[in-house]
Amino acid sequence: MTQLLKDSYGRAIRDLRVSLTDRCNFRCFYCLPHGEPPIAPKEQMLSYEEIEYVCDIFVSLGIEKIRLTGGEPMMRRDIETIIEKLAALKPSLHDLALTTNGYFLPDRAQGLKEAGLDRITISLDSLKQDVFRRMTGVNVLDRVLEGISSAKRARLDPIKINAVIVRGHNDDEVADFAAFAREHDVKMRFIEFMPLDSGHEWSRRDVVSGREIFQKINERFPLIPLNGARGSETSARYRFADGASGEIGIIAPVTEPFCGACSRIRLTADGQIRTCLFSTIEHSLRDVVRSRATRAEIIEFIESVVMKKEARHYINDPDFRPPSRTMSFIGG
Ligand code: SAM
Ligand code: SF4
Repeated sequence: MTQLLKDSYGRAIRDLRVSLTDRCNFRCFYCLPHGEPPIAPKEQMLSYEEIEYVCDIFVSLGIEKIRLTGGEPMMRRDIETIIEKLAALKPSLHDLALTTNGYFLPDRAQGLKEAGLDRITISLDSLKQDVFRRMTGVNVLDRVLEGISSAKRARLDPIKINAVIVRGHNDDEVADFAAFAREHDVKMRFIEFMPLDSGHEWSRRDVVSGREIFQKINERFPLIPLNGARGSETSARYRFADGASGEIGIIAPVTEPFCGACSRIRLTADGQIRTCLFSTIEHSLRDVVRSRATRAEIIEFIESVVMKKEARHYINDPDFRPPSRTMSFIGG
């Protein structure tokens, strides 16, 4: 019988995000505007064997979904091996997904599928060349669009597309993204800008609320809710009222926090457990694993860390301080 991971508020933890690297080949201004911080020595990073070992333990504790992220996870050369090892944890593991900026997909989407990846989420912040370049720091919109096509051809369905909507940058493209979802039959996910940028330049003024995003889409393409009671899902999901293909999801952690139903924990590339995106403390699973702890001791450690999961994030409190490690370290 699977033991279930539960926190002190009774929330079941079923979803693990694993960051494979802090490195990235993009410079998204809302994430890594000033380039990569000094890269930690390789020996501090979890090896693929360690990732496989701890994920096996997490799955035995009831984790059903694993999402690989980063940094840019495809910068890790052994990503196909990692996927192959984690895919062997199915069927107890229900869902193995990857979030990527899409740059490496044109050549490698098929290989990811063959290694056992179920689903993919690709970030795409603009459909305009100049805005894409300004937001990501690289002029590769066409290549990312080609990556999306390759992922479709490789049947990494359902394909999700993430766009972080930032005032004055891409808020005029919200309805165009909805048109893109209809045309390409993808699940578009609109994300509110969160204070997780390494430049610490986030300002509430730059946040486009989930409500505003909904209105912009609904005016052009009327929407019908899909998940009224959405449980632990991060996004409020909608379909198009006219029956067109594609789906809309709006993720509004700033203006409509969903912490009460959170089922997620995170593992950083250097093996630290984070119980919330906004945690100010981390717990070194790597040190425990490397201390030759037994499997039972590792389980005990994980259970005790999960009990410390925060009730909620504090973005909207007057004395909120962003975490010192930012999105590219934590794993989005
Ligand atoms: N490099 C991959 C990518 O960009 O898809 C995976 C890692 S990235 C940190 C994961 C997701 O976090 C991306 O969709 C990205 O747009 C989102 N993200 C990064 N910084 C963010 C911020 N400050 N607010 C909201 N979302 C953010
Ligand atoms: Fe890199 Fe992803 Fe952060 Fe952009 S959002 S800088 S692609 S890690």
